[in-house]
Amino acid sequence: MMDKILIANRGEIALRIIRACKELGIKTVAAHSVVDRDSLPVRLADEAVCVGPGNSKESYLNIPAIISAAEITDAVAIHPGYGFLSENADFAERVEQSGFIFIGPKAETIRLMGDKVSAIATMKKAGVPCVPGSDGPLGDDAKANLAMARKIGYPIIIKAAGGGGGRGMRVVHAEGALLHSINLTTQEAQAAFNNGTVYMEKFLETPRHIEIQVLADGQGNAVYLGERDCSLQRRHQKVLEEAPAPGITDEQRKRIGSLCTKACIDIGYRGAGTFEFLYQDGEFYFIEMNTRVQVEHPVTELITGIDIVKEQIKIANGQKLSFTQDDVVISGHSIECRINAEDPKTFIPCPGTVSWYHAPGGPGIRVDSHLYTSYVVPPTYDSLLGKLIAHGKDRAECLARLKNALDEIVVEGVKTNIPLHQELVRDGNFQRGGVSIHYLEEKLKHAKS
Ligand code: ADP
Repeated sequence: MMDKILIANRGEIALRIIRACKELGIKTVAAHSVVDRDSLPVRLADEAVCVGPGNSKESYLNIPAIISAAEITDAVAIHPGYGFLSENADFAERVEQSGFIFIGPKAETIRLMGDKVSAIATMKKAGVPCVPGSDGPLGDDAKANLAMARKIGYPIIIKAAGGGGGRGMRVVHAEGALLHSINLTTQEAQAAFNNGTVYMEKFLETPRHIEIQVLADGQGNAVYLGERDCSLQRRHQKVLEEAPAPGITDEQRKRIGSLCTKACIDIGYRGAGTFEFLYQDGEFYFIEMNTRVQVEHPVTELITGIDIVKEQIKIANGQKLSFTQDDVVISGHSIECRINAEDPKTFIPCPGTVSWYHAPGGPGIRVDSHLYTSYVVPPTYDSLLGKLIAHGKDRAECLARLKNALDEIVVEGVKTNIPLHQELVRDGNFQRGGVSIHYLEEKLKHAKS
């Protein structure tokens, strides 16, 4: 096994990786910014190296500083977590060129899947169903674009090939707005992602967001670990996730899961990955692949008993998958609430000092969080404080445990979205299961008026 891993991330995911490494007997180095010097990952890692100031560009996104930190600490591998450099193909390449192991797929795979146009083309070729659309980038020919949109049928969505984090998308309801929307999205994509390529997809009106978790060893073996339903979103950002997805049958899971593992083998995928789909009227439509560990990975861990982060590390260490698809057994139900430091009504981020933190407990409760009493939530990074995850023998028991935990958890000193989660778990439609990706925003709109 590897001797030492450098973690190029912060917050709860850095802590999650430290825990996995400790279980595997691997030493850890926390690469951190000045702002995070008193954070839990820095305290709990075996070593810590400050890689720059608070501004992520100069620290968590600073490739030379991170590679130097690995060099001076004699780390053998770098775990990028999620966000920051985790899907940066140039980073993966530089890590390997510098003689370290990148805990993730090959740079070329990240590049292929990082561009949504090439990702969709690759998936189509592998037989994975995609959203009806332009089958490639849009050109300058206005007439051709108008004809294509008419053929697909309105509403359509214009999406940036390099988009991410819910940005770089625009819905068009009628022909009159098409050309202007293509221009605007192109300009915005150029400015935000340094890539002005856009494409067109049918805008599905009431889909659910269902994604398939995979693990592949890059040596011809791949498994799917079932699906997650991440339909509760605000501004295309996930708020609460669950596994399995309500109403999805074993047969559907097997069909879509097998297509994903086949695609993994086709592209020589290595590591943990997620195939994201929109699901409507019984059909799955691929939208993108994430080539890293996801925020919501714990719900899958709780229903399968498989530690995704440890598996990532073992795969990066060159080991073959130690189990097969038949060994993957789904047991019970799991739901995760993302706890953010933000106003539960306006969603404005709320940095500050946590004057009191009390973690919930009891059967089937897991908390992945870097919080502690007196922790200062910096204004510099995203507002995720941690995740509260419940597991039960079925969805009803899971929900009951989650309700208790949401009533037990105390985070004082900063505003959080805990009241929103308390309301959500008591919502009749959510309790029935299977709401669409628009449900939460509609609910919030009604609450305002
Ligand atoms: P990002 O990389 O920014 O997360 P995605 O392609 O994964 O972008 O899309 C994010 C979200 O946007 C989806 O979960 C869904 O809510 C919405 N979305 C994307 N494509 C479509 C579509 N064709 N129809 C309806 N909603 C869509």
